[in-house]
Amino acid sequence: MNLYELLKKHFGFHSFRKGQEEVIRSILSGQHTISVLPTGTGKSLCYQLPGYILNGTVIIVSPLLSLMQDQVEHLKINGEKRVVALNSFLNVNERKKIFRSLSEYRFIYISPEMLTNQLLLQSLKKLKVSLFVVDEAHCISQWGHDFRPDYLRLKEIRTVLGNPVTLALTATATEDVRNDIIQYLNLKNVTQLINSVDRPNISLVIEELSNKMNKINKLLELVKQLKKPGIIYFSSKRTSEEMAILLRKKGIANAAAYHGGMDQEQRILIQQQFLNNQLQVICATSAFGMGINKENIRFVIHFHMPYQIESYLQEIGRAGRDGNKSIAILLYTPGDEFIPLHMFEKELPSDNQIEKYYSLNIKGHHTADLMLSDVQSRFLSYYKGISENNNELILKVKSIRDIRIRYKQEKLKEMLHWIKEHRCRRLGILEYFNEVQSIPLMRCCDICGLNMNDFLSNDREWIENEKMNWQSMLSNLLLRGD
Ligand SMILES: [Zn+2]
Repeated sequence: MNLYELLKKHFGFHSFRKGQEEVIRSILSGQHTISVLPTGTGKSLCYQLPGYILNGTVIIVSPLLSLMQDQVEHLKINGEKRVVALNSFLNVNERKKIFRSLSEYRFIYISPEMLTNQLLLQSLKKLKVSLFVVDEAHCISQWGHDFRPDYLRLKEIRTVLGNPVTLALTATATEDVRNDIIQYLNLKNVTQLINSVDRPNISLVIEELSNKMNKINKLLELVKQLKKPGIIYFSSKRTSEEMAILLRKKGIANAAAYHGGMDQEQRILIQQQFLNNQLQVICATSAFGMGINKENIRFVIHFHMPYQIESYLQEIGRAGRDGNKSIAILLYTPGDEFIPLHMFEKELPSDNQIEKYYSLNIKGHHTADLMLSDVQSRFLSYYKGISENNNELILKVKSIRDIRIRYKQEKLKEMLHWIKEHRCRRLGILEYFNEVQSIPLMRCCDICGLNMNDFLSNDREWIENEKMNWQSMLSNLLLRGD
């Protein structure tokens, strides 16, 4: 069977999306491959299709549990039974059972924290691994926006597995990040397939408002008028909730909040309602969006600025996956940058936490009273081994933390520069990734000029929306039972 027949048979598509076929051919020819494919272009197909050709197991390391579950479900719906996800959702017995029968699976998804499980490593050793996939590979790099120290163990794992053909996938990677990926995975002779980060069907707008009140009013106006569905990003959980309430008060009943502080059941419900078009507007933190396969998102608004251009691209990339015109609007008020600046300081462990953590650890005490966040404890636990001498360890870790904070500050500066620079928004982004703009676009950005009417909902849709409001209000009431 040729590639196209397999594509039709297993996935029901007649043609590849841009970039997919090159990646697949590279893997099939036995090349380690780094692929930069923009969000929403079907990265998973790049390893799933080869899974049906190669003789052996495909291992996929993915940092996002929701994304992992989503892809496993997708494969199952497409008729693939030999797929499993190894993550913290499994209890000890389920784990043991799966570890014993690993060779029965064609696709094994693994979360990074599972990679430290020695029992799993022993079982993986016995497999014939035909392809090793690292999804969201920018997480390897300390210069990547989602840096995950767990990912630094991947080099070891690859060695244990006998250096299998490896595919590193990411949506956005600067040259620094790509070099880190190669180094930390210990890849020799790598094919790099880099596609433009540009999504031409998404128009880019930045609007500066003089104060928060004006910004809120602008948001209300936009959300009322714009074609839906859409996502609004906030950097704080509280604001996302407050704004969802405000939107509902102002007549946009099909709006809801979504953030990492909500319990899982609630989050799944919101996600489902959004996917089923019962909800039209999501007020979210960056926790929302990964693994959301919704084709028709028409707008992404940033109420708060993302902390770096990479995150901005990832978030706006959720719009317009159907290829239809969509809009990304960033609302900026002078001073917005202080929120992330403050966050950078808080996110990683303080001097005090670093000192106490390592001293306590040595004496074998638990660290509960240090009140560490997930990120902080992952960070501290990862660097535990870099020095035998406790004082030296503390000094080194403090300096790693400081470098990381400075790096983030630099990234934020670049983001801010892009916001304030009054020239083509797209050009600024492309230059950041060392790309050149090919052809000027019709609806490029607010600087090049665009007609907002192109993005407003028409009357008929209004009526539909109103009807939907009604129904979703009713179903919300029924669901809540109050
Ligand atoms: Zn432009």
